[in-house]
Amino acid sequence: MADEKKVENVIVVGGGPAGYTAALYTARANLEPLVFEGFHWGGQLQNTTDVENYPGYPEGIMGPEMMGQFRAQAERFGTRFVTDDVDRIELSDGGVQRVFLGDEEHLAKTVILAMGAEPRRLGVPGEIELGGRGVSTCGVCDGAFFKGQKVVVIGGGDSAMEDSIFISKFASGLTVINRRDEFRASKIMFDRAREQPNISFKTPFVPEEFVAGDDGKLGHVRLRNSETGETEEIETDGAFVAIGHIPQSEIVTGQVDTDEDGYVVTQPGSTKTNLAGVFAVGDVVDRTYRQAVTAAGTGCMGALDAEWYLRDTPPSPEAHWMPGGEPVEVAPAPGS
Ligand code: NAP
Repeated sequence: MADEKKVENVIVVGGGPAGYTAALYTARANLEPLVFEGFHWGGQLQNTTDVENYPGYPEGIMGPEMMGQFRAQAERFGTRFVTDDVDRIELSDGGVQRVFLGDEEHLAKTVILAMGAEPRRLGVPGEIELGGRGVSTCGVCDGAFFKGQKVVVIGGGDSAMEDSIFISKFASGLTVINRRDEFRASKIMFDRAREQPNISFKTPFVPEEFVAGDDGKLGHVRLRNSETGETEEIETDGAFVAIGHIPQSEIVTGQVDTDEDGYVVTQPGSTKTNLAGVFAVGDVVDRTYRQAVTAAGTGCMGALDAEWYLRDTPPSPEAHWMPGGEPVEVAPAPGS
């Protein structure tokens, strides 16, 4: 009996708004998508409380609840999910795409990359070591643990302001530490943070080290003045690092075109990458907008691009697949 392997029409890698929307559209097109949604499915919205800017929710909705609804909607039309992190991907230019979970290999005619982005780190001593013991990258997740305590937030962008406003509801005092005197944040977010009576600002400083107290938890942060080089210490119970994000493209680096910061490059107005049959959507592509609604929008584009590719592309001799329609079985090559 030949060891035959199923070739999926579409594999989606990523379980945020972009991945789930790509799944929804390809499922409704009867392409039976297989989604590797990651162990921490839901993407960055899983770490968000109120989402007030997603159209269709006039009263707002909690991020995790919204992701649950995205997922359920894709599932309703036959999407299959693997709640695990992909270990390896072997991309092909127009041939069979290979996605690995350990030694388990999954084949597909198309793949939609939707891995999103992760918080950027400072890369200073104590940052990782004191993770979960005072240092965090997610204000919304961990802010409530610092009720009545002193907290610092690192960064000067909208994320830092949003985290600060949220955490200031719990903390007794919060200091925003920014490496420049100017803030990258939008005026409205900066003004909102400045209006909070328990938020103060300290510039131009960068953390040099997060240092534990006697109890093993974060005790103070050593700061360096980024103009004079002088250092000083600030006592704190919590430190939130909010200095932007990094696209999660390592798994395909060197296989598909990425830019100098690691964002997957797509053709203008399209989700097509430089490889036929490989599409990229959401925050792993988008350095500019990075909103749930824009991620969902490009997820839809990726699904349509994949559908049209399957419709229009002649069957690959390697895959023996028919364009569109049901996944088919592929016999191993003779002699293998
Ligand atoms: P961002 O806009 O890239 O800001 C990153 C901040 O971290 C900047 O202040 C940057 O300083 C600082 N930074 C970067 N690397 C650093 C390092 N190694 N050490 C110290 N500081 C460092 O990132 P973001 O705040 O995550 O926002 C990303 C996008 O999402 C933006 O377009 C933003 O508008 C949007 N966003 C919107 C909302 C909202 O509207 N509710 C909320 C969150 C995010 P420099 O300025 O010196 O580079």
